[in-house]
Amino acid sequence: MAKILDGKQLSLTIRGEIADAVARLVSAGGKQPCLAAVLVGENPASQVYVRNKQKACEQAGIASRLARLPADISQARLLELITKLNADPAVHGILVQLPLPDQIAADTVLRAIDPAKDVDAFHPENVGLMVQGQPRFLPCTPHGVLQMLRRNAIETAGKHAVVIGRSDIVGKPMALLLAQRGWDATVTLAHSRTPDLPAVCRSADLLIAAVGKPEMVRGDWIKPGAAVIDVGINRTDSGLVGDVDYAAAEAVAGWITPVPGGVGPMTIAMLLANTLKAAGGESP
Ligand code: NDP
Repeated sequence: MAKILDGKQLSLTIRGEIADAVARLVSAGGKQPCLAAVLVGENPASQVYVRNKQKACEQAGIASRLARLPADISQARLLELITKLNADPAVHGILVQLPLPDQIAADTVLRAIDPAKDVDAFHPENVGLMVQGQPRFLPCTPHGVLQMLRRNAIETAGKHAVVIGRSDIVGKPMALLLAQRGWDATVTLAHSRTPDLPAVCRSADLLIAAVGKPEMVRGDWIKPGAAVIDVGINRTDSGLVGDVDYAAAEAVAGWITPVPGGVGPMTIAMLLANTLKAAGGESP
């Protein structure tokens, strides 16, 4: 049976470390870190995500602000708000919760955020710095996965990592980071056009699923003893499930993340870490 990688517990440990670092920063005369979240419209999942992020900030001693905007807001008005937040010295991190309504070009909005306050690390300048191995901030979900691997002493050097999914926010940066010096994995980035995905997955020592298809990865796709990281969050009639058939995978894998309680809470912890860093603190 696989060892369960408990992201909930680990994220609490990291959030405790961040709270200590915030307290040190403030007692040394630094400013209290502050995250400004921008929520457009009434998407229920987005509301939950933003609420959880704000709660986590408050527990770590990070101030949080929320700008709620109507779903029909114009792009120009949203950009005006970003400009104000960029100029506000009390705000260290800016987070625009995705997805945005159709009348707004998400790329344009994300590029308008001051890269020094871009705690989601989606701005092209921050993506470029990461690609060159000199990150200012790391994107939260891949960073959460790396922390999980490191703190559970899961070896990546010389291993074959297969990442399924090539989105800009999860799959692509995940693959890139694992291939970088220090992590030293040999990486395959798989996607919807990859032939014989089960065979590709069976060759993975480390399998990371970031697809958004409930339980797509079957037990017989997994190499015995592999580390299986399930990034997927899928709402089904039977509740939240990941991209991996957990029950079958658990019997074969060496390590596995549950959904919920795996990568999700780690993502939030790394958002706090980036906000602390943006305010001049030392992130864990
Ligand atoms: P996207 O929809 O942006 O990307 C999905 C990727 O999966 C695409 O690259 C797509 O390939 C690939 N894909 C789709 N179907 C298949 C298939 N049958 N076989 C192989 N590859 C396939 O999703 P995200 O990266 O934004 O999110 C992925 C999942 O992770 C979602 O469930 C999301 O909710 C979750 N998530 C979880 C987070 C967390 O904190 N735990 C944070 C962010 C996301 P192609 O490019 O060819 O279309």
